[in-house]
Amino acid sequence: MQSSTHREVVTVGILALQGAFVEHQATLQKVSLRRRIHIVQVRTPEDLAKCDALIIPGGESTTIALLARLAGLLAPLRDFVKTKPVWGTCAGAILLAQAAEGTKKGGQELLGGVSVTIMRNGFGSQVESFEAPLTVDGLRDSDRPFHGVFIRAPVVLSLDPSSNDPPIEVVSRLSASLLPHNQTTIPLDAGNTDPNDPRTIVALRQGRHLLTTFHPELTKDDRFHEYFIRQCVLPSLS
Ligand code: GLN
Repeated sequence: MQSSTHREVVTVGILALQGAFVEHQATLQKVSLRRRIHIVQVRTPEDLAKCDALIIPGGESTTIALLARLAGLLAPLRDFVKTKPVWGTCAGAILLAQAAEGTKKGGQELLGGVSVTIMRNGFGSQVESFEAPLTVDGLRDSDRPFHGVFIRAPVVLSLDPSSNDPPIEVVSRLSASLLPHNQTTIPLDAGNTDPNDPRTIVALRQGRHLLTTFHPELTKDDRFHEYFIRQCVLPSLS
């Protein structure tokens, strides 16, 4: 029997209840690394049990949580997050956060896993989407900016790791001057250029998890998917 350190195939699940899961699959299929990547669309606890790692797509976090509950996936997902690498993009980032604000009436079920507080639709409804070039530490060809697509994106309000949690590593920030100022949910001073403002964080890692508030799957660029596999998934297999 092969030991897990010598496995040639890594099985990556994509939560396929709602949102941009097909786009994630198409981008992940382009990634070329030492290991062959087997992709599973996850709709049931049985699908999830096959996976070494999981991507939670953008879409609508409330709907994804509701459908996960109906599919009997909420508890298995919460267990999965405790031991396996998970990458949440946009709505997926909300689900991975330990706390969320701006949620719909009746609240929002979260999976937790990343010690941040996040504001749903934090950039405001009137500025529903924008695009910005991002500098990303650790990406292949990191001199070349990554095209960030933000669609009703959440905003990281605070980093709240406890002393037992793995440290949080900021992977990419928007320049503070690029934060939209004409919105109401997170008032920002027009002159705010504090480079350490947590609201500028658009990608971060904590332990084996990756959180991005934008949509790397909506570009033709596979570098973020490669980054997740290389930095979060492969090290967790050995
Ligand atoms: N605003 C959405 C939510 O609350 C997320 C938007 C997205 O994933 N593009 O889930």
